[in-house]
Amino acid sequence: MGRAEQILVTHEHIDHVIGIARHPDPAGIAPRLAITATQRAALGQFALEGALPEAITARPALDLPAAARIAPGVVAAPMSGHSPGSQVIFVQRADGAEFLFIGDIAWTMRNIEELTTRPLALNYMIFDPPEVRDRDVRAQLRALHDLMETDPALTIIPAHDRPYLLALVAEGRLAEGFVQHP
Ligand SMILES: [Zn+2]
Ligand SMILES: [Zn+2]
Repeated sequence: MGRAEQILVTHEHIDHVIGIARHPDPAGIAPRLAITATQRAALGQFALEGALPEAITARPALDLPAAARIAPGVVAAPMSGHSPGSQVIFVQRADGAEFLFIGDIAWTMRNIEELTTRPLALNYMIFDPPEVRDRDVRAQLRALHDLMETDPALTIIPAHDRPYLLALVAEGRLAEGFVQHP
């Protein structure tokens, strides 16, 4: 992360942002952070001191009221539902390969293929605030489901579908860890 041009996150849940909230060099990553005010507001509770370092809070937040180009080949689009600060990140690499990072809108590709959401009880046990399902997540799953059919070349990346992600690594479509762009 310390060498990245920009650091984006799909959403503000602890397993996706603790590397920012507890980064050993906040001043080093602060200029690279491209996170929204909603995402940043949730980060403080995960910081070791209970509040974010000033280097991070002093940075202007990413203003993302609608889909926007973040960098060449990179577009972020707000997609609240799983969490208030959820967004999807579309990446088209120089070789033309296209990826859509969906964070936790679905935990597995099966959720998208079969249009299944997480167990309802889980929603209230582990998400605070709970997911907005009827209005948002179900519609997003449906859109992703349809997108898979109309654009099979697009690689959808759910953050937690480990067997699927490892298969993409084995195929050479992804690499594990942070990889320096040539
Ligand atoms: Zn999440
Ligand atoms: Zn997660």
